[in-house]
Amino acid sequence: MPTSKISPYDVIIIGAGVNGCCSAYTLRQGGMRVALVDQEGIAAGGSGAAGAFISPKISKAGELKEIIHQAHAEALDFYTSFFPKYTLVRPLLHIANSSKEGEKVESFKRETDLKHSHLPHKIETMLSDEALNASSIYFDMGAVVDAQGVCEAMAEGIDFYLLRAQMPVHRDGMWNIGPIRAKYLILAIGAYPKILPIEYVGLRGIWGHRIDIETSTHLPCILHHHVSISPTTKEGRVAIGATHDVHYSPFSGKPYDLDHGRAVLLEKASKTLKLSNINVLHDYTGLRSGSNDYLPMLGPLVDADATLEHFPHLRHGQPVNPSEYIFYPNLLMINGSGGYGFVLAPYLAKRLKEYLIDAKEIEPILSPSRFFPRWAKRRS
Ligand SMILES: Cc1cc2nc3c(=O)[nH]c(=O)nc-3n(C[C@H](O)[C@H](O)[C@H](O)COP(=O)(O)OP(=O)(O)OC[C@H]3O[C@@H](n4cnc5c(N)ncnc54)[C@H](O)[C@@H]3O)c2cc1C
Repeated sequence: MPTSKISPYDVIIIGAGVNGCCSAYTLRQGGMRVALVDQEGIAAGGSGAAGAFISPKISKAGELKEIIHQAHAEALDFYTSFFPKYTLVRPLLHIANSSKEGEKVESFKRETDLKHSHLPHKIETMLSDEALNASSIYFDMGAVVDAQGVCEAMAEGIDFYLLRAQMPVHRDGMWNIGPIRAKYLILAIGAYPKILPIEYVGLRGIWGHRIDIETSTHLPCILHHHVSISPTTKEGRVAIGATHDVHYSPFSGKPYDLDHGRAVLLEKASKTLKLSNINVLHDYTGLRSGSNDYLPMLGPLVDADATLEHFPHLRHGQPVNPSEYIFYPNLLMINGSGGYGFVLAPYLAKRLKEYLIDAKEIEPILSPSRFFPRWAKRRS
């Protein structure tokens, strides 16, 4: 389509995973004209593979725990209020999968303000001895969303372009992606190859596999143990997931062994409870995109070459105030959510909207430029 036929947008979002779709939805709610771009379609990447549990993080105190705690509350509210059709709310039983995790569960139980109660007898009778003897916490409220359905619903009514974005070009105050132009550009491309020279952004892909099955066993709650086993929004379907494989990459060209992945999932599920008359209906695979420090990323991106030229002593480890780095104009990244993309997406999208529309600063802890000084020093 010739450029002149498409009037400029306020924002182009590259990547229609949960981060791209949720940002598009939230910015549109804020009155922005949004174009959403993906090379494959809606939720074609890691998001389409996700079990999409909206679960708290059982961990010791720290920044990540605090962010996920807040994000978890916002996500439950977001999906149940705006996308109830794609959200199944059930109690959530989290069972420790090792004695080390058991300690975390016990300390979490003492400190959490999330409502939890005694395990109902009916569920106890279903569990294996291993699951029964491990530390566990039974939350009154957990949720699982239909990953594909909710992403499509969030993207509904937003102009969508099926195209592979190459190196974006900034000209006359506008970002240009193929035939589309906008003032702001948001990169939400998950663990896919970078399209700008931003090597300092520390990300790694973590391959995952989940399956949907039919079973004659009725599950009254969501279970997290060695894997998650859960009813879904689709009647009669149970989801089992997911594997964590840091060694396999779909970009390696090597085929992935689906049968092996299925066997691993079913074996792990059998450690929690017996599922009868199993029929595997569908496999889902994809890459999570995790940051090197496990915290998510949201914020403007440093132009590494321009900044190093301006502050050459950064290569020798001399500090520069991050506000003085040279940033690409009106370009932001949203990424690095690891295994919590569906939990974090509404939280990150809300802060993106506050930054773009209300000129509210983003917490520096989320900034992708946090990795820049270390990377610059390593290049000396
Ligand atoms: C098996 C599995 C289970 C998971 N379970 C959960 C869970 O229970 N709960 C939870 O909260 N999270 C879960 N996650 C994590 C969650 O799915 C991810 O954190 C989330 O999907 C990341 O979303 P994203 O939008 O950043 O990236 P993605 O979903 O990977 O989307 C990136 C998109 O960018 C597009 N793209 C890339 N490059 C380009 C380009 N150059 N031009 C155009 N388009 C491009 C891709 O096609 C893709 O659609 C799971 C993930 C996996 C893989």
